[in-house]
Amino acid sequence: MADTTPQPAATPAPTTPGGPKSMDAIMALCKRRGFVFQASDIYGGINGFWDYGPLGAQLKKNLREAWWQDMIMNPAWGRKGPNGERVRCVPLETCIIQHPKVWEASGHVAGFNDPMVDDKETKGRFRADHLQGLYQIGDYESPLADLLARTASTGGAVPVCTVVASSAGEAIDQLLNTRKLQKELGIRTITSRTPLTDSTRPFVSVDMGNLKADCEVLAVPMPTLKSRFAEVPSPFTGKKGVLTEPRQFNLMFFTYTGAVFNEESKVHLRPETAQGIFVHFKNVVDSTRVKIPFGIGNTGRSFRNEVTPRNFTFRSREFEQAELEFFCHPDESQDWYRFWRDFRMEWWRSIGLAGENLILREHEKDELSHYSCGTSDVEYRFPFTAPGFGELEGIAHRGNYDLTQHQTHSKVKLDYFDTTRGETLPNGSKKGERYIPHCIEPAAGLDRGALALICEAYTVDPSRPSPEFLKLHPRVAPIKAAVFPLVDKDGMPEVAEKLADALFARFGRHGFIETDAKQSIGKRYARMDEAGCPYCFTVDGDTLKDQTVTVRDRDTGRQERIGLDAVPAWLGERLGL
Ligand code: ATP
Repeated sequence: MADTTPQPAATPAPTTPGGPKSMDAIMALCKRRGFVFQASDIYGGINGFWDYGPLGAQLKKNLREAWWQDMIMNPAWGRKGPNGERVRCVPLETCIIQHPKVWEASGHVAGFNDPMVDDKETKGRFRADHLQGLYQIGDYESPLADLLARTASTGGAVPVCTVVASSAGEAIDQLLNTRKLQKELGIRTITSRTPLTDSTRPFVSVDMGNLKADCEVLAVPMPTLKSRFAEVPSPFTGKKGVLTEPRQFNLMFFTYTGAVFNEESKVHLRPETAQGIFVHFKNVVDSTRVKIPFGIGNTGRSFRNEVTPRNFTFRSREFEQAELEFFCHPDESQDWYRFWRDFRMEWWRSIGLAGENLILREHEKDELSHYSCGTSDVEYRFPFTAPGFGELEGIAHRGNYDLTQHQTHSKVKLDYFDTTRGETLPNGSKKGERYIPHCIEPAAGLDRGALALICEAYTVDPSRPSPEFLKLHPRVAPIKAAVFPLVDKDGMPEVAEKLADALFARFGRHGFIETDAKQSIGKRYARMDEAGCPYCFTVDGDTLKDQTVTVRDRDTGRQERIGLDAVPAWLGERLGL
């Protein structure tokens, strides 16, 4: 039977203004207002799968369309690239199921494995290399922040920080030098209290902002996990001696094509959309007038049988990606890598993720795939990762790895003849150069993107009629505007309806235009605030006299009067439409 996913608490933990945002409260709002529902909700849900309600579906569509517009149709907002020319990209849409050889060539069959450990008692499963997140104090096990808080308040025993490493020295080295690990753990600064040797009791001093403590470091070497696993407490119960040795587990879902279910008919659901692009590189070059450098972008569903789906939609088993593969000459690839890395960061900021919750993290050398000479992640500080960050998008310099792999496996030439390069011939034209292009891949997750937008927008202010509301950026907000008659009589509903019609005609394809005549005006504003509607227009007695309406700004609550006829232009300017 399918496992079920945890429900948000019935009464969500209150979020204090200015304090950390409560994930339970955010999940409850998402359900209450129709942003996100558990898949198969009436059957208790299915772990790792989430559906979008009316507002969530439109929010995600707006996000997808913003990506499509700014990455494919008008890439990088019409800017010139490092080659001094306008950036060019084309779209593609490819199947979830591809020829099995695609996944052999891409390395997913052999390499898309995680070392897994099972808890024999609870049947729970987790990634062995996520052991870095486990900490023990006597028999007590908890995330580092809780543990340090506890130690600080009780003056208790020294916490032990477990790191997968071959020696204590390497464990400390990893803690000190791997920024990703530090971010995951929420560590601001960390210093070694003992020399980087394999001394029996190595210590580090950890600063997590409001918490500072010394930790003992326990190294658990990957190859010898088998023997040490008995010493590692279960992440589910804290018990020792209940974990199995790590085993490889492929994350790809599979099914069968046709009537016969056997190895020959076995096919995989794609774990990423990118490979569909690589296999059509030649078709796109042959069928369009694109010339290197250019990009091919697509959006679509991907599937990963994540061992521990968690944190709401952040780690799901079915999710949507928006990926661009940008092909260029090897000599220009570093410039293009920097170009896309910086643009992607700007882009996320432009739709509302401004501020210190968004960071760009360049991967350490030890994190890079063997073929990559640079990868950066755009990371957001979600309430469940705080004070650490979680990946929203990865921007990778993939070299010519993918095209070379597909060329080898398919035996189809995937090189490119560049007529703008090579020696200059006597007639002034170029001799041309044949090469396999390098590729820069900005790969974003739309579900993580939508979740980050919701978390960032979620605001608590008990002094307002709606103590919880969403400050969604107008470009992605699912409701673009609301129109209210102050009272449901005296000709006001008719004027309001006419205005709503005009707004619908102009903005209806970008989001909802709501009307609401029920209850007090304050309650109506509150309903709209909670759904993230940026502007409400109210038709009142004065409107009938002077043809003006009140417009209220969601974020400030400020109201001003503008001409009835001016409303569509006024709104269009603010929505950027
Ligand atoms: P992670 O390290 O968090 O598993 P990843 O590095 O494997 O992510 P990529 O393969 O780079 O992720 O995929 C590109 C993007 O797809 C990610 O940045 C993320 O936004 C999204 N993504 C990947 N896995 C999931 C998932 N299980 N659920 C939701 N989104 C995902």
